[in-house]
Amino acid sequence: MMNEQRITNTFMDLVRIDSPSGEEGNIAAHIERVLDALKISHQRDNYGNVIARIEGKGEPRMLCAHLDTVEPGRGVQPVVENGVIRSAGETILGADNKAAVAAILEVFTVLCKRDVSHAPVEAIFTRSEETGNYGALNLEYSLIHAKKGFCFDSGQPVGTIIIAAPFYNRIDVALHGRATHASRPEEGINPIGILNAALSKITLGGLDDESIFNIGMIRGGEARNSVPDRIDLQCELRSYSEEKVETHTVAVRNIFQDAAAHAGGGAAVEAVRENDGYSLTMDNAFLNATQERIQRIGIVPCFKKTWGCADNCIFRARGLEVLNLGYGAVNIHTAEEAITVRDLCEVSRVMLALLQSD
Ligand SMILES: [Zn+2]
Repeated sequence: MMNEQRITNTFMDLVRIDSPSGEEGNIAAHIERVLDALKISHQRDNYGNVIARIEGKGEPRMLCAHLDTVEPGRGVQPVVENGVIRSAGETILGADNKAAVAAILEVFTVLCKRDVSHAPVEAIFTRSEETGNYGALNLEYSLIHAKKGFCFDSGQPVGTIIIAAPFYNRIDVALHGRATHASRPEEGINPIGILNAALSKITLGGLDDESIFNIGMIRGGEARNSVPDRIDLQCELRSYSEEKVETHTVAVRNIFQDAAAHAGGGAAVEAVRENDGYSLTMDNAFLNATQERIQRIGIVPCFKKTWGCADNCIFRARGLEVLNLGYGAVNIHTAEEAITVRDLCEVSRVMLALLQSD
């Protein structure tokens, strides 16, 4: 079955390979060498995602993990202490998402060595998830045959199933005024004044029990002694409800445009849907089958909503029924990121349970 030492070594090898978003070539080549040694067929799509396949019986299943990591993620030195793996230095560990990569390779190893009856498996190792799900967005979907599957990209305990992710609108706002010298404010239109008026009507943070608005970046101005001619805002709106993400976006747009018009300036508001969310109810058959299989191996499934957008959101928007599951790492995206050896094994045990034929 799962081999603790083997999966730990696989994981340590993976995290020692630098793979910041956009620089996944070395880790992809490493995975291809491991697959070659196991005699598992694989290919790279046009975008550089690695796709590996094993034959099996029944409906094919997708397993997905992303190859890239966030910064600081170069020169990772993993250490194991009392069954906990963390980075020795100031870097992240990279369990996000190399724990899932290691678990897939462990499951492949087991399936190659043992005579287990299992579904055909398509493993997809995606690039550049962290910077905007680019690997999943640019995946060559014509190469993918599975209609259902699993990402393991939630920094939650093993056994967690993500049942909701938000619809996400990026909103870019340019507030236009008229530049003038600070000593003659009556001759100008200050876009900061427009922002001020807008902010008196906009809620920052939670808008209702399923929607959040944020202004994350404000830029503008040329000199201390001048009224700027424009300022630019980078905003975002997330909601579990597709209807609400749109109504809130319209409301935000109207507030900026009204405030600008009132001041005699202008507001250019560009809103773009970057991600489609989803919400599952317990009558979803695939969700039920998944929780039942997790339960069967003695792990208590638990259900969580996320505010993040993992690759499975992209797959779902393409009509593939892909769930996102917890892989047990803690403090991801920080230098305190850690995962236990036990959880590495547990992730691969869950994967195997999800692939086994009844
Ligand atoms: Zn991740």
